[in-house]
Amino acid sequence: MKINLSGPDITKKEIDAVVAVLKTRSLSLGPKLPAFEAKLAQYAEAKHAIAVNSGTSGLHLCVRSLGIKDDDEVITTPFSFVASANCILFERGRPVFVDIDPETLNIDYRKIEAAITARTKAILPVHIFGYPCRMDEILKIAEKHNLKVIEDACEAIGATFNGRKVGAMGDCGVFAFYPNKQITTGEGGMIVTNDDKIANMCRSMRNQGRDPSSAWLEHREMGFNYRISDINCALGIAQMERIDNILEKRSSVASMYKQRLESFKQLKLLARGGADISRSWFVYVVRLDKKFSREDRDIVIAKLRKLGIECGIYFPCIHLQPFCVKKFGYKRGDFPVAEGISDRTIALPFYNNLKEKDIDYVCENLKDIITKLT
Ligand SMILES: *Cc1c(COP(=O)(O)O)cnc(C)c1O
Repeated sequence: MKINLSGPDITKKEIDAVVAVLKTRSLSLGPKLPAFEAKLAQYAEAKHAIAVNSGTSGLHLCVRSLGIKDDDEVITTPFSFVASANCILFERGRPVFVDIDPETLNIDYRKIEAAITARTKAILPVHIFGYPCRMDEILKIAEKHNLKVIEDACEAIGATFNGRKVGAMGDCGVFAFYPNKQITTGEGGMIVTNDDKIANMCRSMRNQGRDPSSAWLEHREMGFNYRISDINCALGIAQMERIDNILEKRSSVASMYKQRLESFKQLKLLARGGADISRSWFVYVVRLDKKFSREDRDIVIAKLRKLGIECGIYFPCIHLQPFCVKKFGYKRGDFPVAEGISDRTIALPFYNNLKEKDIDYVCENLKDIITKLT
């Protein structure tokens, strides 16, 4: 018995789309790139979409296009994948962490203002596990203090807040398409923005700083090779054509987990959203009750793995990552809410075509292991 943590949902449609590109001469910078971008722009309700080779590259270009540099401060969350802080460090900026809300697991917007200093340039909220941040509050704070907002929507394609799609509510935002995300291009990412200037800078910087209107080898500025191939874009287009169905499937897997776990009091499940929130399901993360320790959680994970149930620790706090401790001297206790949650989370197997009998197997064993722990 082996149940994977995640798995892409690839149909014949995707395979045919990729093979069709391989039969052309345009493997990169061909017609699939603008077609994929147009699909995303429309879906995310954004004026521009710029495809890149990873979510991390996209976040880096957002930070750079906003002019964030040496010791500029960017307010963000410690409870995220490491890329959301690294993208600030790439430009020698400083991530300033603000603790999270224990219900939504997103940055606690009520604590943002206290972290603003004269050096603060931007806020980088992460819609963690696909749950949208309270963007109205965050945008209000940003406007009041003249700050930019970069949305890390890498886990949240399709999520809405107050009826608006996440991604381009702030100055710019990024989706990611690694195989464990809601839709995949193998590797890839997409910047979305309503700002012409940011869009132009990102387009140029992903392609070695070339000016789109100038000669091929004229480099207006230092850029990067963050291009994504037409092979990846074709895969992305085919996935986008099925996105409503994909998100529905994920939501129904989440509901099946909920049915089996919600009455089990030793576990807390992810918030499902309210009237103004619609979450996009990225992963299925449960957390042990407060009375359990990190060691208990690690025992549960080890036992599940022994039974062939793959699970993950989403996420270890960024400020406690060895390189962050070394660089900034963070310690346990600095962000107690994030740490307490991070110590007790378990990501369970979660993907579109996860079978009901596998969900039964995971839930029965999970409950059994926890019951025996107490
Ligand atoms: C996946 C992810 C990214 C970017 O990931 P890539 O692997 O570079 O595509 C960034 N932030 C968060 C929160 C993510 O989950």
